[in-house]
Amino acid sequence: MSNVKTVKILADRHYNRQIPYMSTYEPVIGLEIHAELQTNSKMFCSCSADYSNAPEPNTFICPVCTGLPGALPVLNRKAIEQATLVGLALNCSINEHNTFARKNYFYPDLPKGYQISQYELPIASQGWLDVLDDDSLLPSGEGSGMRVIVRRVHLEEDTAKLAHEKNYALVDFNRAGVPLLEIVSEPDMRTVEAALSYATRIRAILRYLGVNSGDMEKGVLRFEANISVRPSGSSEFRTRTEIKNLNSFRALTRASAYEIERQIKVYESGGEVVQETLGWDDARGVTVSQRGKEDAHDYRYFPEPDLPPLQLDRKWIDSIKRQLPELPDAKTRRFMEQYELKRQEAILLTSERSLADYFEDAVSKSGSPAKTIHSWMAGELMRYMNESGLALEDIALPAERFAQLID
Ligand code: ADP
Ligand code: MG
Ligand code: ZN
Repeated sequence: MSNVKTVKILADRHYNRQIPYMSTYEPVIGLEIHAELQTNSKMFCSCSADYSNAPEPNTFICPVCTGLPGALPVLNRKAIEQATLVGLALNCSINEHNTFARKNYFYPDLPKGYQISQYELPIASQGWLDVLDDDSLLPSGEGSGMRVIVRRVHLEEDTAKLAHEKNYALVDFNRAGVPLLEIVSEPDMRTVEAALSYATRIRAILRYLGVNSGDMEKGVLRFEANISVRPSGSSEFRTRTEIKNLNSFRALTRASAYEIERQIKVYESGGEVVQETLGWDDARGVTVSQRGKEDAHDYRYFPEPDLPPLQLDRKWIDSIKRQLPELPDAKTRRFMEQYELKRQEAILLTSERSLADYFEDAVSKSGSPAKTIHSWMAGELMRYMNESGLALEDIALPAERFAQLID
C-alpha cells in the first residue's frame, strides 16, 4: 500500500508502527496539563499539601477540604504566586481581575459535590510556547519548530484519592484541596512529536520554577490529550476525543498515536468519530471508552459565592515577574553563544536546571574548554546517572572535583 506511513516516536523506543492512510490525514492535538503546586498548605485551608508524606490516610484534613457544610475557603497566597509565575513563564497575560467558580459534579473523591475552579476569568491567558515538531532533532539535527498557543492557565483544587478494592473502594482525603494548575493549549499540534515536545517543555519549565517536581509516577503531573484527525490540507476541526489521566510521556505518546490510528480507521471504514472521554489501558495498548464527553454546560458553572473576586495589583505582578529565573530556551541560546556549544549539546544541559548549574560551576572551576566539560557530562557522568539511577544532587562528586578530574 503506497499510502502506508511509518510512525516512529523516537522518545519511545518501542513505538514504530506503520499506519495505513496516515499520509492522507493530519492529526490535530490539544493538551490539557494538570500540575499540583508545591505549596506548604492546601488551596483553601491550612492543611499540609504534602500528602505523599502523610503518616496515614485521612490525617491531613479539616472541615474545609472534606467539604463539611458551613466551612469557608480562604485563598492560598503562595498558590496565586506560583500560578502567576507559570503564566508569565508561558508568555501569558496575567488577568488582574480573577474570579473563582463552582464546577458541579458528583464523584466519591469530591466531597463537596463541586470543585472550586476558575472558569470565565482564569489567572493567565493567551500565551505561547515554542516546540519542536520534528523528531529529527532528537539524535542530531536541528529539526523544525512551531509555536503552540497556550489558551489559559487556571487554578483549581485536586480531588481525593480512591483505591479500588475487590468489592468496595477506599477514599483518602489527604490530597483533596491540594492546589492544582490547569494549563490548556489550543489545538495547535500536528504531530505526536510536537505534543511530546510541548509536554516535555512544560514539565521542564515547572521544574525550573520550582512549582512542581514533575514526578509523574506520583501523579503530580498529568496529561490529557485531545485528538482529532482531518484530511490533509483541510482546515476544519473535526470531532475530538479526550484521553484522560496520562501519567507518563510514554503513555502520552502511545495513547495519542493509537488514537490517531483508530480515528483514521473509523473514517476510512465510512464511520464517524464520536465525542467521548477515553482512558488508556497501558497493558493492552488501547484507548477505552469511559463516558460520553460532557460539555461545559453540564457542569452548571456558577461564581463561587464563598470567595470574593481576586484583584491582582500590577505592581505585585511585576514583582513576581522579577522572580522569573532564566528559562530553558533562553539558557540554551546563552550556552550556545557563551560556550560555543551546538544546539543539541546545549539542550541536553539545559533540560534540567541542576545539570545546567553543575555545568557552569564546573566550567568556572576548570582550566579545560567548556566543550570538554560538556562531553564528560554528556558521556561519563550521565551514563553513571542512568546506570545508578541517581540524581545529580545525590552523586558524591561536586562540580569542583569533577572539574579537577577533567583537568
Ligand atoms: P472544553 O473541554 O472546556 O469544552 P475545548 O473543547 O475548547 O474546551 O478544548 C479543550 C481542549 O481540547 C483544548 O486543549 C483544545 O486545544 C482541544 N481541542 C478542541 N477542539 C479540538 C479538536 N477538534 N481536535 C483536537 N483537540 C481539540
Ligand atoms: Mg478537558
Ligand atoms: Zn483542610
